[in-house]
Amino acid sequence: MKKRIEKNSLYWALLRITIIPIVLLVMVITAFCTKSLGDSIGQEAQKGLKNLCNTILMIYDDLYPGDYSIVNEDGAILLFKGEHQISNDFSIIDRVKAYTDADVTLFYQNVRILTTIENAQGERVIGTEANEVVTKEVLKSGEEAFFASTLIGDKKYFSYYAPLINSDGSCVGMIFVGKPSAYVKGLVLHAIMPILLLAIAAILLAGFFTIRFSGQLVGAIRKIEGFLEKVTNGNLHAELDSHVLKRSDELGEMGKHALKMQKSLRELVEQDILTKLYNRRSGEKMLRQIQDEYMQSGIPFCIALGDVDYFKKVNDTYGHECGDVVLIHLADQLKEHMHGKGFAARWGGEEFLLGFQGYHLEAAVKSVEALMENIRRKDVSYNDEKGIHVTMTFGVVEGSEEKIDHIIRESDAKLYLGKNQGRDRIVF
Ligand code: GH3
Ligand code: MG
Ligand code: MG
Repeated sequence: MKKRIEKNSLYWALLRITIIPIVLLVMVITAFCTKSLGDSIGQEAQKGLKNLCNTILMIYDDLYPGDYSIVNEDGAILLFKGEHQISNDFSIIDRVKAYTDADVTLFYQNVRILTTIENAQGERVIGTEANEVVTKEVLKSGEEAFFASTLIGDKKYFSYYAPLINSDGSCVGMIFVGKPSAYVKGLVLHAIMPILLLAIAAILLAGFFTIRFSGQLVGAIRKIEGFLEKVTNGNLHAELDSHVLKRSDELGEMGKHALKMQKSLRELVEQDILTKLYNRRSGEKMLRQIQDEYMQSGIPFCIALGDVDYFKKVNDTYGHECGDVVLIHLADQLKEHMHGKGFAARWGGEEFLLGFQGYHLEAAVKSVEALMENIRRKDVSYNDEKGIHVTMTFGVVEGSEEKIDHIIRESDAKLYLGKNQGRDRIVF
């Protein structure tokens, strides 16, 4: 059977209505979790930077009490804290960096005076200016601020800026504490990695089971479809895959119904309604099969054509209905007798054909004689009538490569001879 993979097939429809919602749902859940985690990690990082910043300011306040001020000495700008000149003292901020990995900068106004940030040449970026956004949002407004991404040199920082406020309330500069953005992103990525892996595993698992289930379902439907196609094309002996029939669901039931339908059709086409024997059409077909096998493998065969003696009398004496009962009774005997030997078919009104496979004439004649004796012995009972005695006359011939019609005519001629010789006999 051709395998359908068109876009509008049931298989793709099943995959679409199952996998797409699963993938979307998993993506939405993952995005939501990622956002929540990212936010909370960002908040934690902000809190950490703010605490660090306060700690640094506290250390300067403790070590060097007093306000921040600037002294211009021979063109060099020197930053003082109280009485102490702190412009060239990097020990505090360097140590902070060593312990926390965070960069620190002290600004006078928007100019970097003390910093741990170095340029590509490894020199501290002293004397450079803060960008305009920071200057505006922190220095001019006197408010602290976080920035998820501040570009300093060629590096992006997750940064916290706070104003430096002197005792008179004036804003003289800023302090910056920051960590490279890549570091914070790495933290977020590290946290969401298990969620991402779980999401991928969930999609793969759902996909695997959906594909498997859809494949099995559609496979069974295709088998039933293929079976029905064969039956529709006249193959009344087509077989349906046993896996379909073993299914305990609706498809299994559908398969069983399809088989029953095939059987009913077969009976309608091949069986004789009254006697349930093969009808003449299928009898002829089976004879041809037996002859084919004889020609291919040399398996001998014989044909016996039989007719009920004085059957008209039965009808006339007991009625047509009784005649039917007699025919059914005889047909049952013929069928039982032919079991394992070949087949029996109703050839005409009260005429029957027996096909012996694997039998030479002598054996076939013996078998028919035994059958006739049986028929003779078993009277047919109908209503209250005492047993109706029936006999049959047979003409038997051995099969050959001759045309089937010819062989049948031969057996018919022998049957006719038997009738003329007095009936209840076998002619061969
Ligand atoms: P013979 O020994 O020469 O065969 O005599 P006969 O009476 O059997 O032969 P004949 O051909 O004259 O009669 C056959 C009868 O079988 C005629 C017909 O009404 C009857 N018959 C054919 N088919 C059926 C059937 O399906 N049911 C019944 N009840 N009778 C049938
Ligand atoms: Mg007859
Ligand atoms: Mg007849």
